[in-house]
Amino acid sequence: MIDLHTHTNESDGTYTPAELVAEALAKNLDALAVTDHDTFAGYDLALPLARARGFDLVCGIELSTRLALSRGDKKTVHLLGYFLHEPPSVEFRGWLAELQAGRRERNVRLITRLKSLGVSIELAEVEALGRSLAGRPHFAKILVSKGYATSIQHAFRDLIGEEAPGFVERDSPNIAIAIQRVIAGGGIPVAAHPIRLGIRDHGAEEAAIAEMRDAGLLGLEVFHSDQSASDSARYLGLAKKYDLAITGGSDFHGGTKPNIQLGSGAEGNVNVPKQVLDNLRLKFRS
Ligand SMILES: [Zn+2]
Ligand SMILES: [Zn+2]
Repeated sequence: MIDLHTHTNESDGTYTPAELVAEALAKNLDALAVTDHDTFAGYDLALPLARARGFDLVCGIELSTRLALSRGDKKTVHLLGYFLHEPPSVEFRGWLAELQAGRRERNVRLITRLKSLGVSIELAEVEALGRSLAGRPHFAKILVSKGYATSIQHAFRDLIGEEAPGFVERDSPNIAIAIQRVIAGGGIPVAAHPIRLGIRDHGAEEAAIAEMRDAGLLGLEVFHSDQSASDSARYLGLAKKYDLAITGGSDFHGGTKPNIQLGSGAEGNVNVPKQVLDNLRLKFRS
């Protein structure tokens, strides 16, 4: 069994890279991909530990991207990138640093906007909570703890959500650009947890996946903790139909999502055979 979707505390998980590798070994996994949001820091720290134990560690990343569908609506798509043969290029790492800088710049604008609304909040507080991934969820927590909102939902509704007076746009990259960046950097772009596109109509869902394929997508996360057996069967069919590689993982976050176990997902609903990684490496031989 393998797990191709996991997070360390370098993004929004709670396990250190060392703890994650130890857990993978304890669970007898055949391979593990670290797919932190916007950073390779967790993978970089885990790699020497995995090597020392002869464990198969895959380099991955998860990016937030924008998909503007031709029928009009906009979606946020999490794009996984897998670097199977070579480490990510220096250019790709540089692009990640640019995304990070954009995220920070947006937080600075959000602080200014909230202060203009009479809220007492400092960037340092937000970054202490969210580290390199500091963003609106961390703002919301602080707004609640300081009494500016009674709940996370209210903080979004009244202060920082899209319809609220404190809203500041964040520019996540267009999915087509992110796909091209991943490929140019030596990676395989895969659409994460397609169920979270939230498209109930199966025809419309398929059309969205076809649009991503046309933008250069090369894989689909068929197996995921949020996806039922029938979802997975549907995505398996779509992956075959559109010649997309099949991937799968638990999206393990440690204590942030305590119902999800490394390797096996939520109540054992994820079970990805080693063959999936073998096929991936075969399909994208360097
Ligand atoms: Zn995700
Ligand atoms: Zn994830």
